[in-house]
Amino acid sequence: MSALEKLKDLFEASLTPTPTVIAIGLAVVLFFPVLLHLLYSAATPYTTLPSVLLVGPSGAGKTALLTLFERGPSASSSTPAKTHTSQVTSSVELAVSEDPSTPYTTDLDAAGATAKKFLLVDTPGHAKLRAEALSYLSSAEPTIKSPLASDHGAKSKLKALVFVVDAAALADGDALPQTAEYLYEVLLTLQKRFHGRKGSRAPASMPVLVAANKLDLFTALPASLVKSNLEAELGRIRAARSKGLLDSGVGQDDLNAGDDTEGWLGGDGSEKFSFAQMMEFDVEIDVIGGNVVGDGPGADKWWRWIGERV
Ligand code: GDP
Repeated sequence: MSALEKLKDLFEASLTPTPTVIAIGLAVVLFFPVLLHLLYSAATPYTTLPSVLLVGPSGAGKTALLTLFERGPSASSSTPAKTHTSQVTSSVELAVSEDPSTPYTTDLDAAGATAKKFLLVDTPGHAKLRAEALSYLSSAEPTIKSPLASDHGAKSKLKALVFVVDAAALADGDALPQTAEYLYEVLLTLQKRFHGRKGSRAPASMPVLVAANKLDLFTALPASLVKSNLEAELGRIRAARSKGLLDSGVGQDDLNAGDDTEGWLGGDGSEKFSFAQMMEFDVEIDVIGGNVVGDGPGADKWWRWIGERV
């Protein structure tokens, strides 16, 4: 029997109203809508754009950075970012080239480049309003309600976190402990997702960029010092918290204690804190210097970092 004849037989059999054919037909008719629904609802979370969250203390330059990426360098220097806007969560839709080395200033349409779209979401840096930013980070698959009206409140998948710090302010005063305190909360929230996970599935990895901003100012610390100062301060906070001695100061001898404490950040037992310890919790941290206004390295490296992660 040739293949053609076999096919013909099969076709004829499928048209003969035997109980098997009727059963298969019924199953298809009944389950098709269910299947369609399942496919559709599984695909829905990905129909909105992915997002990148901007966090960091007030005055670090989050709003200025958002404005820079939205409007380009000329707009942001002539119309300085309004600090009051950082009292609320605001976001912009941006497009980054498939080739992450393309600068943010390039007009992608004109260059004919293929682009990936994403949302850059600014959060209020004020201490009292930080809970909102932290709440986004606490789930295993962090999402944020899309602020775009066209998305009808759909969930946007959070791909990365940019923690903006003022590298000039970190050199003196209270800025270092205050900045580190906020960063500690952010990293601890990301770490806790591991303990709160259900089943064996690991939470989505969350890359963190510490953007050492304001490098145009000569008082600003270089990125390497921003990194080591923050690590040292995070280590101090960790030691103090684990002993519950935040106010009374903690000596070197106490550092080894309290490994199982809820608030212990990073790998257990190590004396010094380093960002690398957060890899254990799939939190990869990079510290990169730049500036939004003035002369300096600019924001290209940050843009590239974001482009590689959305
Ligand atoms: P936010 O509270 O983190 O949103 O901070 P803003 O974006 O409101 O910025 C606070 C101040 O820092 C504003 O006056 C900005 O113009 C200024 N600023 C932001 N980025 C830079 C920078 O790279 N260099 C300098 N010199 N000033 C900056």
